[in-house]
Amino acid sequence: MDHEAKDFIRQRIEHDIAKGQLPAGVVTRFPPEPNGYLHIGHAKSICLNFGVAQEYGGATFLRFDDTNPSKESEEFVQSIQADVAWLGFEWSTLTHASDYFEELYKFAVDLISNDKAYVDSSTAEEIRERRGTLTEPGQNSPFRDRSVAENLDLFARMRAGEFADGEHVLRAKIDMASPNINMRDPVLYRIRHVHHQRTGDKWCIYPMYDFTHCISDALEGITHSLCTLEFADHRPLYDWVLDNSNVNFHPPQIEFSRLGLEYTVMSKRLLHRLVEEKIVDGWDDPRMPTIAGLRRRGVRPAAIRDFCSRVGVTKVDNRVEMNLLEFCIRKDLEDTARRGMGVLRPLKVTLTNWTGDVEIMPGRWHGKDESLGERDMPFSGELYIEQDDFAIEPPKKWKRLSPGEMVRLRYGYIIRCDEHICDEAGEVVELKCTYFPDSRSGSDTSGLKPKGVVHWVSAAQAVPVEIRSYNRLFRVPDPSATSFLEDINPDSLEILQGFVEPAMIEHEDTHFQFERQGYFCKDSKLPGVFNKTVSLREGF
Ligand code: ATP
Ligand code: MG
Repeated sequence: MDHEAKDFIRQRIEHDIAKGQLPAGVVTRFPPEPNGYLHIGHAKSICLNFGVAQEYGGATFLRFDDTNPSKESEEFVQSIQADVAWLGFEWSTLTHASDYFEELYKFAVDLISNDKAYVDSSTAEEIRERRGTLTEPGQNSPFRDRSVAENLDLFARMRAGEFADGEHVLRAKIDMASPNINMRDPVLYRIRHVHHQRTGDKWCIYPMYDFTHCISDALEGITHSLCTLEFADHRPLYDWVLDNSNVNFHPPQIEFSRLGLEYTVMSKRLLHRLVEEKIVDGWDDPRMPTIAGLRRRGVRPAAIRDFCSRVGVTKVDNRVEMNLLEFCIRKDLEDTARRGMGVLRPLKVTLTNWTGDVEIMPGRWHGKDESLGERDMPFSGELYIEQDDFAIEPPKKWKRLSPGEMVRLRYGYIIRCDEHICDEAGEVVELKCTYFPDSRSGSDTSGLKPKGVVHWVSAAQAVPVEIRSYNRLFRVPDPSATSFLEDINPDSLEILQGFVEPAMIEHEDTHFQFERQGYFCKDSKLPGVFNKTVSLREGF
């Protein structure tokens, strides 16, 4: 947190510490619902929850909010744990809301016993109709005045499986005329005869989020229950449940803004559709804003943490520019990624006066950091350079190759283009060049002064690779939630068949800078594939 003044949550924590209110330190939780992969929005919440406990001393629970069994799965549970750990955070305890099902049930029974909750046998539609609107109060349910005894009996039978889904719900008895719709007798439990990934078929009633969350927070002794702004309207209910339950701890709920990112979507519902409709190749497709996608793309945890820290924590929802994320990714890779040579769109170069075999050019992996060592680069009479580095009719100030002009091959020799060979379509397919034997980099006595330096690989030793270059997944900065499929960028993936120097394949490291081209990373699943992580400079 060295980017700006302390945010309002940290100020609040410091205030609580100063007043001696946190004897056991700061206790937070990150409470994902295991119904999808984590995305960069979750990373903001992770960095905040784990970050404050680290900074001020304390603990963070990783709590799976697994109260919605049909949408949840073990794959998501595993991926969430892997992603939190990968981001560099350690939870003090791993819990599940389902660990508390028995206790939650008892708290519900207590509410009923105190006439604070009742079983409603209306249909879902009737409940909706009587809820009222923002401008009109709701109406009491005809079941609202059931006796405590009848409610206790019905609730026990709901649990025992005597009723079908939807036949009854348990509702809090609060105020159907409340200006806050969340307080109009919210549903606390519903019947759902579904298998739960952890509790199996033990339960056929499941508690709702608003009931589960606050009690789980209380049971875990969460000192600051941090959530996103859309829950601000739920706070009175959070407090009501705790005030009316015999818990010995009442955490404060504090809301902060959700992270949005330009040119992408963040809601798991929409991300699910991208996966299901095969618009992307799974949750870890490098174009996805998921942690798994960013990782596969070559983004490292430090970049994501830096990004979250720069975005900061406020009370105002906003969509952050993609440029900021890319800036953080670049900044992280700049100092540590090895530089190598990769040619994305190969153009063959034949050195007509080359008589030798292969020469070895030593080259540092990193211009500034000697500790990253050196590698050998084979150089020979047949090379590939980038198609873009040759122009038949160069524009003004061209610093690359053109007919009759010279260029230095980085770490190698100076060459002059004598002839360019075109195919029938007029595309340049090969260059015939002369190399200057006394111009070798490091021992150049030629006195030649070419204007530019280009990268290359030696044709015989270069390793053919597939290079996947990504553009934004959406054409517009704020894809619409309703018709977001129409905003998909049809050109978000470009596949190139290129070459890299052999040392990059041999090296165990996965992240590299291709000189002059950007940062790339070996794909974690597909051998021989490199993903473009980010360009070297802003904008594309
Ligand atoms: P989604 O709409 O993507 O499903 P969610 O809030 O339903 O998001 P959860 O799994 O319930 O997803 O979220 C776990 C935690 O992560 C919550 O505390 C939530 O507030 C936080 N979170 C989710 N999305 C964001 C976001 N975009 N920015 C900040 N925090 C987020
Ligand atoms: Mg959710």
